[in-house]
Amino acid sequence: MPHDSPTLSLTQELIRRRSVTPEDAGCQALMTERLSALGFDITPLRFDDVDNFWAVRGDSGPLFVFAGHTDVVPSGNPEDWASPPFEPEIRDGMLYGRGAADMKGSLAAMITAVEAFVAAHPEHPGRIGFLITSDEEGVAVNGTVKVVEWLQAQNEQIDWCLVGEPSSTNLVGDVIKNGRRGSLGGWLEVYGKQGHVAYPHLAANPIHLAAPALAELAGAHWDNGNDFFPPTSFQISNINSGTGATNVIPGSAHIIFNFRFSTEVTDDELKARTEAILKRHNLNYELEWKLSGQPFLTGEGELVEAAVAAIRDETGRDTELSTAGGTSDGRFIAPTGAQVLELGPINATIHQVNECVNADDLDTLSGIYRRILERLLVKTA
Ligand SMILES: [Zn+2]
Repeated sequence: MPHDSPTLSLTQELIRRRSVTPEDAGCQALMTERLSALGFDITPLRFDDVDNFWAVRGDSGPLFVFAGHTDVVPSGNPEDWASPPFEPEIRDGMLYGRGAADMKGSLAAMITAVEAFVAAHPEHPGRIGFLITSDEEGVAVNGTVKVVEWLQAQNEQIDWCLVGEPSSTNLVGDVIKNGRRGSLGGWLEVYGKQGHVAYPHLAANPIHLAAPALAELAGAHWDNGNDFFPPTSFQISNINSGTGATNVIPGSAHIIFNFRFSTEVTDDELKARTEAILKRHNLNYELEWKLSGQPFLTGEGELVEAAVAAIRDETGRDTELSTAGGTSDGRFIAPTGAQVLELGPINATIHQVNECVNADDLDTLSGIYRRILERLLVKTA
């Protein structure tokens, strides 16, 4: 058990800072102090109530960026935890605490990886950046998306971006996420005419009117997916209608639905096909759309190759590329043209009570990160 591991002790220090989204609680100060000591230029970027920072080291050449978040989801009832959620504790080789896996362990591994890399290559070619936010788990309005806008205004182009989200399934490094599905939400209001259930000819029941259209949407085949993405799925998450009375036909019905979509369709195509179905059913409706993220895919290329090789060198493991799971801040970075992938610890306990990470995995992760830097910035230079 590496109780003297610098990655483990930094993770513990970060867990002690109670950074429930969008609070940062001093985590970024801890990180920037370490990065400043390595010669990084730090730019704090606070947008409204959200702390973010950009840090960069190096003068020219391709830009590799570590991206991540210092905020964590709430602990839930601390009584339900075996040890207090913001007091890191090691039991049976596992480090327990809120954020241990998502993603303070990754942040610590990024810092120690860069420390080791810079010690070995003080004059490294290329540039290393950190894009860190405290608003990933929350609404994510004043976090990465704003930092990316700021970077674009500075004409900063990220070549490779590694997001430290916990991507692994059973062993650290066994899965990396090289893309994410898109997420498109719809808020649908179907109008009918309110009336007495005993006089349906004088009313128009919006639930009855909407039901066949919703059935068609739920049963529709949107695409076949591809090698990297499962087929696009449509799910209704809410239906609300009715007054609570048994004898009143409601005047309208409110439906919320969501697409998780592959790169085989566009959000515009999904919108057009949805509206065509609603119109074919002659519905009187209003529909509002919200695109939470475009799908993105980082195919074969230097970043994926470097990550796969680094994991093999550090652990002997073969890696699976996957696009499963929810959205992450990678969705804001990929549209800039950067190659983006997510690589972090095992995600089995994230957002749960008794969140934990294998303490040894933190050093392994740091080693993988350092090898990725070496492959991208030193070996190709
Ligand atoms: Zn996360």
